[in-house]
Amino acid sequence: MDTLTSRSEKIILEKLNSAGYEAFFAGGCVRDAVMQKLKMTVPSSGDIDVTTNALPKDTERVFDEYQVIETGIKHGTVTVVLQEGNVEITTYRSDGSYSDSRHPDNVRFVTSLEEDLARRDFTINAMACDADGNIRDPFGGQQDIKDRIIRAVGCAEKRFAEDALRIMRALRFAAVLGFEIEDETSRALCTHKQLLRNVSTERIFAEFRKLVSGRNAGEVIRKYADVLGVVIPELAAMKGFEQHNPYHRYDVLEHCIRAMEAVRTTPENRDYMKMAALFHDIGKPETYSMDENGIGHFYSHPAMSEVLVSGIMKRFKADNFTARRVAVLVKRHDLIFEKDERLLKKWMNRLGADVLAEILEIKLADNMATGNMSLELERKFCEIRIMIHDILAQQQCFSLKDLAVDGNDVIACGVAPGPEVGRVLEQLLMKVIDGELPNDREVLLAICYDAIKCGILT
Ligand code: ATP
Ligand code: MG
Repeated sequence: MDTLTSRSEKIILEKLNSAGYEAFFAGGCVRDAVMQKLKMTVPSSGDIDVTTNALPKDTERVFDEYQVIETGIKHGTVTVVLQEGNVEITTYRSDGSYSDSRHPDNVRFVTSLEEDLARRDFTINAMACDADGNIRDPFGGQQDIKDRIIRAVGCAEKRFAEDALRIMRALRFAAVLGFEIEDETSRALCTHKQLLRNVSTERIFAEFRKLVSGRNAGEVIRKYADVLGVVIPELAAMKGFEQHNPYHRYDVLEHCIRAMEAVRTTPENRDYMKMAALFHDIGKPETYSMDENGIGHFYSHPAMSEVLVSGIMKRFKADNFTARRVAVLVKRHDLIFEKDERLLKKWMNRLGADVLAEILEIKLADNMATGNMSLELERKFCEIRIMIHDILAQQQCFSLKDLAVDGNDVIACGVAPGPEVGRVLEQLLMKVIDGELPNDREVLLAICYDAIKCGILT
């Protein structure tokens, strides 16, 4: 397990061992290291967790020369701050019973590593690794990684009933790692799907946004739409909703999943772009009508989709940025794009350049997902993408902040301070965008001064 034991965090294990305690890397970092060793693609690795038989107070004593944070002392966790990052050290524990499918009623410290591993959710997450790189794997996690399987530790029914967040975690790992959920585990999570109602919306959303970013998100959502439908009924309503429209080959959910799979993203915008693509037509079932020729229509569906998606973001207590961005991408997903630089700049001014570029990607994905997109249309989108890129790369003027004059200049030309200043600047900007004026300070000031003198600009 070179990838783990060559890490500087190994010092945590060594210090605990020297003080006479057992200590292992555990959980996600071991899973990632095993996958790396098998040359499997590992999604951006998370944090390093350590498990030990030292009690939290003992751990604090071992690391008295370090900064230590009492993260969750009741649950046995302290965090040691290293230069490379924080390491969570948790005492071996067993989680007792769960009466609310959410929190263990009590946490009991235990003395054996095996007992600690048994409380963990899936076999691939229930492995430990010592300072020499020896793996402890009592539940066959390595084999399941080789076979690309998510399998509950112990009785799946019981494990999901104990903690329903594990249902979301199973779907998330399946999507992110591209693994299959083993049959019994799959059946059990479907049986207990209603328990998801007991889980905090924040925790569900944290898993959901990872899920949609996963390489197999489409397959997971296709297969488990009814499970996700417990917390997102709007999603379940799209399933099987036929569009009766010659432009569309697929039902609403299949179309949206395909858009989510097709959308081009960056590491920074991946999760909200995926959500926007998945939810872009969520208002379709509510706006459906059929004309006398038997053709289905969804008039004003982007507005309805925006209302519904904003409701979902609110329910999930999404941060403001994510909620707003998903809403605007959904609302504007049918914006009409033309290969017209001036028009593009006006939209860039109105919505923001990054938002416009993202709407273009959602719209391209939307068209690809109809199953009927022409090559010509695809080429048009690519050309527009390049046009937006060039406007930005050439630092062309499309917003007030790019304009060579500002409010103070306009006031100096004789405009009274107040809302009029903004109106004058806006007019100058439109003339610059339309190519009627250059974005040149001297020219703009002269025009502004003359126009005000002649009463044209005010
Ligand atoms: P990542 O950090 O990449 O999201 P992870 O597996 O490390 O994945 P964490 O949430 O960091 O996930 O949890 C660390 C470990 O704690 C897991 O690997 C698993 O062993 C255990 N664990 C986390 N949540 C649960 C849970 N709800 N039920 C049982 N065990 C859990
Ligand atoms: Mg982790």
